[in-house]
Amino acid sequence: MKMSKLFVQTLREFPSDAEVVSHKMLARAGYIRKLTSGVYNYLPLMWRVLKKIENIVREEMDNAGAQELLMPFVQPKELWEESGRWEVYGRELMRLKDRHDREMCLGPTHEEIITSIARDGLKSYKQLPVNLYQIQSKFRDEVRPRYGLLRGREFIMKDAYSFDVDEAGLDREYENMAQAYKKIFERCGLETKMVQSDSGAIGGSVSHEFMVITDTDAGENDVFYCNCCDYSANSNHAVSNLPEALVDGKEYFNETKIIDTPNTHSIEELSKFLNIPDTLILKSLVYIVDKKPVIALIRADKAVEETKLMNAIGGIDIRIASSAEIAELMANNGFDAIPGFIGPKGMKNIPIIADETVRSMKNFVVGINQTDKHMVGANISDLESEFEYADIRLVQRGELCPQCGKPLSVTKGIEVGNIFKLGTKYSKPMNAVYTDINGKTHPYVMGCYGIGISRTAAAAVEAHYDEHGIKWPIAIAPYHVVIVPVNIKDELQMKVAEKMYKDLQAAGVEVVFDDRDERAGVKFKDADLIGFPFRVTVGKTINDGFVEYKTRETGDIEKLTPDEATQKLINIIKAVK
Ligand code: ATP
Ligand code: MG
Repeated sequence: MKMSKLFVQTLREFPSDAEVVSHKMLARAGYIRKLTSGVYNYLPLMWRVLKKIENIVREEMDNAGAQELLMPFVQPKELWEESGRWEVYGRELMRLKDRHDREMCLGPTHEEIITSIARDGLKSYKQLPVNLYQIQSKFRDEVRPRYGLLRGREFIMKDAYSFDVDEAGLDREYENMAQAYKKIFERCGLETKMVQSDSGAIGGSVSHEFMVITDTDAGENDVFYCNCCDYSANSNHAVSNLPEALVDGKEYFNETKIIDTPNTHSIEELSKFLNIPDTLILKSLVYIVDKKPVIALIRADKAVEETKLMNAIGGIDIRIASSAEIAELMANNGFDAIPGFIGPKGMKNIPIIADETVRSMKNFVVGINQTDKHMVGANISDLESEFEYADIRLVQRGELCPQCGKPLSVTKGIEVGNIFKLGTKYSKPMNAVYTDINGKTHPYVMGCYGIGISRTAAAAVEAHYDEHGIKWPIAIAPYHVVIVPVNIKDELQMKVAEKMYKDLQAAGVEVVFDDRDERAGVKFKDADLIGFPFRVTVGKTINDGFVEYKTRETGDIEKLTPDEATQKLINIIKAVK
């Protein structure tokens, strides 16, 4: 490909709406162009990268025994009603009507469709197990599309679905997919961590995510991991053991009573006022889960993990209550306390979930729905309310690994793929069954396995860049090498460059020939920004028989003869393929 013909317009500046490295770089280097919020054109360089990732995914999925198909992007409401998700999926689901007023949606994921395909075709145990996958654009009307390709509304996903006769079969396929995923990300040049995770709106019991660990702002997930064993989990699922703490306030309070605590709106103010550690305070928080209020109780030195709380209620949407909603809740229960003084005592018709940390608390301090007052020396029985215990605690750095007891570390991660054990969550309601050897029918035991193709490309940039631009891993780079003749009017330089161009192309190396009549500095800048893994510069040194061979990843520059450089590139590219 001649640079003069390559469809790429690099920008002088980063686009103003780009917050993270991958969005900035991909836009500036001419890979993507925004069409509308969360929707991008994949320009030729981007499309080459995406196809390379797709092909790696395809090869490894095929090697793992899965079969590719392609399902429609538009889906009818009826199937979503069968699974029960039409009602619950929420506003991420882009719903539309056709000219006959029939309701449809744009596919955010394809469990319903694949389950309907399976139930029509997989009737006997003899046909199982099966794993079917597709690579396709999805649409999710995300609340906050951002970070370019990392969280788009339209994005490319590989989604696979497995059908087994029993849990043991699912376990085997789950492991098979975990292994395939490791190979896929390795081949893409990405280091990933496989971490335990919450199963979210898709449901099911067990799931893992593949995270690209990053120190950039783009990591939307906190990953807790242990340096001493293999424990690692997304914060929405992580658990920990806590170091010993003072949880019995008997040395501070020898009786249970209500006292004045003026202006103690925060835990900090309250613990200062009473001169006690915050481990002796029971914190009460009001959330709205699926539009209804819920009270969460937790030891005050700890924080609530919203996904855990939402799961404890069985909801699909959660947020913290506004002051107006808290005021309304107070009024409905005959109180008028302001936030900071809320508590479970006397609250009726509202689910109350207490974190496990509350179990061991004794003679503690708690809000009792009276402004400027707290109860001290309180015990669970004084709360006079019904509540359920659940682990709703957000793990924090330094807490102890649940497996080996060593302190946990935390880092940021970008989720590029995940694997779920769905079990019969879809097959049961959709009556998707097979017949066993005795003629009895059972729902399939299913798994689903996603990889964000476009997100993986962006995550690769987050993991491989410097201030000059992208440093693509070789396997997913749009082209392997750029050849830069410094002076296109110099006959020898052009002759050598053109020969290398031809030789490399003949050997299957993907080459861009920068034939533009530009200053070398401009060409080098573009080469770095676009991120070709290798650059060969043919300049004055060719008069002594040498070209300059630069490796983008390390910045190393070598002086080689044109033949040496050609051979070296051919060998490297061969090894990657
Ligand atoms: P997230 O928690 O990041 O929203 P998810 O749990 O909704 O992801 P899945 O529904 O399991 O993700 O989708 C499978 C894969 O698709 C994810 O692992 C991710 O790589 C990719 N993906 C999901 N949502 C988006 C998006 N809005 N933009 C780009 N890729 C996405
Ligand atoms: Mg999502």
